[in-house]
Amino acid sequence: MTTVIKNIVIVGGGTAGRITAGTLAAKLKQKVNSGYTITLVESPNVPAIGVGEGTWPTMRNTLKNMGISETDFIKQCNVSFKQGAKFAKWVTGKNDDFYYHPPVLPQGHDEIDLTPHWLASKTNHSYAQAVCPQQAICELGLAPKQITTPEYAAQANYAYHLDAKLFSEFLKNHCIAKLDVNHIIDDVTHINSTENGDIGSVATKSNGLISGDLFIDCTGFNSLLLGQHFKVPFISCEDTLFIDQAIAVQVPYEHEDSPIQSHTLSTAQSAGPDLGYRFTK
Ligand SMILES: Cc1cc2nc3c(=O)[nH]c(=O)nc-3n(C[C@H](O)[C@H](O)[C@H](O)COP(=O)(O)OP(=O)(O)OC[C@H]3O[C@@H](n4cnc5c(N)ncnc54)[C@H](O)[C@@H]3O)c2cc1C
Repeated sequence: MTTVIKNIVIVGGGTAGRITAGTLAAKLKQKVNSGYTITLVESPNVPAIGVGEGTWPTMRNTLKNMGISETDFIKQCNVSFKQGAKFAKWVTGKNDDFYYHPPVLPQGHDEIDLTPHWLASKTNHSYAQAVCPQQAICELGLAPKQITTPEYAAQANYAYHLDAKLFSEFLKNHCIAKLDVNHIIDDVTHINSTENGDIGSVATKSNGLISGDLFIDCTGFNSLLLGQHFKVPFISCEDTLFIDQAIAVQVPYEHEDSPIQSHTLSTAQSAGPDLGYRFTK
């Protein structure tokens, strides 16, 4: 028998849980008299990771599809633009040693591949410099759009830097106030299966059983539904990802009116890269 999915339960309220709740709720809300319910359960005892300041340009569509005003998002989450990343001192370590990863394809990529021409030219220009204007925009300290450009539109492609804690709170408020997501703060203690092995409900410490037709596991490293319940194995990447530790700190601007970079600055250090994001205040 096919189950009609009406009640969706998302376990875990970190970035993944809140974005999943917002995306589904916004999509399903468009259906008149849809009768869908979306419930987001998150533990008061297991903290979300709460860091992660750089995004990819697809975030613009993600936010737009959730019905979020870009202006509100920028103001409330201390957002600045991210036009790719500048890698400084990664090759020779000298002060003028840098290259860019802009978030665009080379100019005219549908018609011509500029790569062999760049290789043949023996130019001193980096690849990014030769095939797109975004490095020049960043080096001049300019934004990817003008103040009159509509929300989410761009003259040059961009993503965002944001304050992850503020963003998480912003998403939660949007889900509850604008998208009618049921928000439950509680620990999921047990998972109950139906006869066919699907999940039928989750038991919580203080809110009893939460039933649903579809459950989404957003419990991060706990992997409560997938790992602990369904025994889906964790796939380690430690043989290829050599850096497995990071220190996340916020440092003040040098001066109150210091310019805000519109790109990530990743400076090589002897113990690994220093990833610098600049937020608005
Ligand atoms: C130093 C650092 C820098 C990073 N930089 C970036 C970056 O620039 N850009 C980027 O995109 N990513 C970045 N990341 C990765 C990003 O932070 C994580 O991928 C992301 O936060 C994971 O979110 P999540 O929602 O999957 O998990 P988590 O944040 O771990 O959330 C898990 C949720 O599950 C809940 N939960 C767990 N167990 C239970 C239970 N039994 N009952 C109820 N709820 C439960 C918790 O309460 C929590 O709400 C960075 C990570 C680190 C460490």
